[in-house]
Amino acid sequence: MTGTELAAAVVERCAEAARNLRETSGVTPCLATVLVGDDPASVTYVAMKRNRCARAGIESRHVALPADTTTEELVAAVRALSADPSVHGILLQHPVPEHIDERAAFEAIDPAKDVDGVTMWSFAAMAFGLPGFHACTPGGIVRLLDAYGIDPSGRHAVVVGRSPILGKPLGMLLLARDATVTYCHSRTVGLSDIIATADILVAAVGRPEFIKGADIKPGAVVIDAGYNPGNVGDVDFAGAAARARLITPVPGGVGPMTIALLLEQTVAAAVRQTATA
Ligand code: NAP
Repeated sequence: MTGTELAAAVVERCAEAARNLRETSGVTPCLATVLVGDDPASVTYVAMKRNRCARAGIESRHVALPADTTTEELVAAVRALSADPSVHGILLQHPVPEHIDERAAFEAIDPAKDVDGVTMWSFAAMAFGLPGFHACTPGGIVRLLDAYGIDPSGRHAVVVGRSPILGKPLGMLLLARDATVTYCHSRTVGLSDIIATADILVAAVGRPEFIKGADIKPGAVVIDAGYNPGNVGDVDFAGAAARARLITPVPGGVGPMTIALLLEQTVAAAVRQTATA
């Protein structure tokens, strides 16, 4: 299941919607990116996201803060972007340095601009099935399943990982699609046996090739959300591909869909804010 072509189609639609907005109201969608410190992976992710924005006709404004920024300073910077009418979406690249209260910084994002789906408001809206922005990776994964005609209804979906930005919201989105969901995490006992019962398996652990091909149920759909140094996923791809019906590659699977969702939600935020201005 490749995400590259699907993501390109989503980005193309974003570009068209951004063009329409500009022509009809003179507004160019704008995503503010905030980066604290200079972690090389984070620098690369932000650059990649800004680059895709440019390709889709979305403006991006970058706020780079030093690694010793305090929680109060970061919250103030994010609040300023929340209050700025020329900014439609805000992405705070995480993880932030450990001394910062990340949750406080996320909550400084106006929910109307929370295009990365990281606030409690967005999480609650998703949990209640109400309109709001999805966390981009879970949202991208669901779009990928839809594009490949995979209906989670009645299937056993096993999500390995329960982080607030990935595993947990993804399980809730699958539950909303009537899957029977099992969450696994670092305290799970009998992980291999549980994985072996998964019709849909999602790996969101952050450990290279942690899930072995031999554990995959024959005919399962395998989504590898992991992205580890050296372009390696959380699943042993060769072993799993021999048993799975469908599997996402790393890179080129979930990653491009995450960015596509970010762009799509930024344009949607700009359209909504322009309509209500
Ligand atoms: P995270 O916050 O570190 O969470 C990892 C999860 O894995 C935790 O819930 C943890 O359990 C669980 N875990 C750790 N060791 C385990 C074990 N031995 N057995 C079972 N579960 C275990 O990571 P994350 O932010 O969710 O990211 C997960 C992966 O997805 C990473 O590789 C990351 O790079 C990738 N990712 C990719 C994208 C993309 O766009 N493609 C976006 C975001 C993240 P506990 O809760 O018990 O600690």
